[in-house]
Amino acid sequence: MDGSIANEPSFRESVDLMFNHAVALMDLPPGLEDKIRVCNSTYVVRFGVKLRGSIHTFTGYRSVHSEHMEPVKGGIRYSMGVNQDEVEALAALMTYKCALVETPFGGSKGGLCIDPREYDEDELERITRRFAYELAKRDLIDPAQNVPAPDMGTGEREMAWIADQYARMNTTDINAKACVTGKPPHAGGIQGRVEATGRGVQYALQEFFRHADDVKAANLSGTLDGKRIIVQGLGNVGYHAAKFLSEEDGAKITGIIERDGALFDEDGLDVAAVHDWIAKHGGVKGFSASGYVENGASVLENDCDILIPAALEGVINLSNADRVKAPLIIEAANGPVTAGADDILRKKGTVIIPDMYANAGGVTVSYFEWVKNLSHIRFGRMQRRQEESRHMLIINELERLDEHLGDAWSMTGNFKEKYLRGADELELVRSGLDDTMRAAYQAMRHVWHTRDDVSDLRTAAYIVAIERVAASYKAKGL
Ligand code: NAD
Repeated sequence: MDGSIANEPSFRESVDLMFNHAVALMDLPPGLEDKIRVCNSTYVVRFGVKLRGSIHTFTGYRSVHSEHMEPVKGGIRYSMGVNQDEVEALAALMTYKCALVETPFGGSKGGLCIDPREYDEDELERITRRFAYELAKRDLIDPAQNVPAPDMGTGEREMAWIADQYARMNTTDINAKACVTGKPPHAGGIQGRVEATGRGVQYALQEFFRHADDVKAANLSGTLDGKRIIVQGLGNVGYHAAKFLSEEDGAKITGIIERDGALFDEDGLDVAAVHDWIAKHGGVKGFSASGYVENGASVLENDCDILIPAALEGVINLSNADRVKAPLIIEAANGPVTAGADDILRKKGTVIIPDMYANAGGVTVSYFEWVKNLSHIRFGRMQRRQEESRHMLIINELERLDEHLGDAWSMTGNFKEKYLRGADELELVRSGLDDTMRAAYQAMRHVWHTRDDVSDLRTAAYIVAIERVAASYKAKGL
C-alpha cells in the first residue's frame, strides 16, 4: 500500500488525525501538542549492493518520532510499499505504544523498499548487512540510542545479521547484543519473542472478555469459547494469534485472508495446516476448493464475532467500512483502520481494540530481551533453584501432615510437581507480557468508562499515552 487511498488522508495523516481527536479533549501546555505530534527526523539512505553481476540500488528509511526516552525503539519492515510517510506513521505509533505499555523507549521505525521473496538468503544477508552498516554508522542502530526489531517481511534471521554487523563495527562494546531485539535465542534473543505479538493479541482479547460491560458494548456475550474469528494475514502476528486463540481459548477461525485470496469455513479452519500450506505453496489457493474466495479482501466483510486484521495498514477504509459486520475488531496490524473508517465504525457501535495496544506484545518482549542483553544473564537463572528449595520446605511439611492424617487428607494430583517447578524463561516472559497487557487495558478502559467525552478505546489509548509522553517532557523542563 503506498499510503494513499483515494479520498483518504495518508497513513501518517490518519495517525495525526486520531492524535488530534484525542488531544482536543486534553489540556496540554501551549506548543507541547505540536512537539509530541511531529516526527523528529527521518533518514533516507540509498545504497548499492552488487548482486547477480550488476549493482542493485535500494532505498531505506529510519525515522525517529520522539526521543523523550532513549533508546528509541521500532521495527524494520521489508516491503515494496515502504515509503517515508508510512515509516513516519509507524514511528509515531511506536511512541504512543511504548508509553501505553510502559516500556521506557521513544518511538522509531525503519523500512527497506524491497520484496524479500525476490532474493535468496545470501543476497538478503548482503543487503541487510549493508543497510545495517548505513544505519549503525549514523547511530541509528545503537543499544543506547536506537534499537530496531522485526516487522513485516523480517524476522529472527535478519535481526541476527544486524546484531552481528553492529558487533563487527563496535568490537569493544560489551552491550553490542542489545543493539537490536527479536534475535534468535542462540544469538542473544529471548524465549517467546517470535510468538510475542500474537500472544499479546490473545492476552488482550482474554482481558477484554474479563469485563462483561465491555463485551456487552460490542454486542457480544460470554467468553472467547466458540467465537467466530476472521484473520487477515497469516504471518508472524496473525498466525500466532490465530493458533493460540483456537488451540487454547476454544475460538473458531472461520476465515483466513492472504495476498492471493481467502479461505472461509463456518466450521473453523485448521490454522496449522493452512500455515504449512502457505509455507509450501506461497498462498492459500488450492488448500481446499470449497472455501476458497478469490477476492480475499471481501471476506473482511463476512459475518463473524471478531475480526483480526494482521497484515498491513489501510485495509478497512472509506470504501468498505460500512459493510464490515464484525462487532469487535482487534487491530493486530498497525493502522489497518483509516481515520475515516474509524469514524464510520465508531458511529456504527463497532468496538475497536486499537493497534497501539493490541500489537504491543512485540515491543514488550523486546524490552525484556534488551534488559536481558544489558544484564548479561538469563531471567530466572539466579533464583529458580532457590525458589524450588524454599517450596521444598513447604512440601516437606505437607508430606508430614499427609502421613499424620492418614486417609483424612492428601495432596491433590500433581500439586507437588507443579508447586516445586520454578519458572523458566518462557514462563517468566509470558507472565510479564500478560501482566503488561492487563495493566495497559485497564488504564485505557478507565479513561473509556470514566470520561463522558470519550466513547472509544482508541481515543482512550491516545489520551493515556499522550499524558505519559507529556509528563516525561514536562519533567525534563521542556
Ligand atoms: P509478516 O510479514 O510476518 O506477515 C504479514 C502477512 O500478511 C503475510 O502472511 C503476508 O502474506 C500477508 N499479507 C500481505 N499483504 C496482504 C494483503 N494485501 N492481504 C492479505 N494478506 C496480506 O508480518 P508481521 O510481522 O506478522 O506483521 C504484520 C503486521 O503486524 C504489520 O502491520 C506489522 O507492523 C504489525 N506488527 C508486527 C510486529 C512483530 O513483532 N512482527 C509487532 C507489532 C506490530
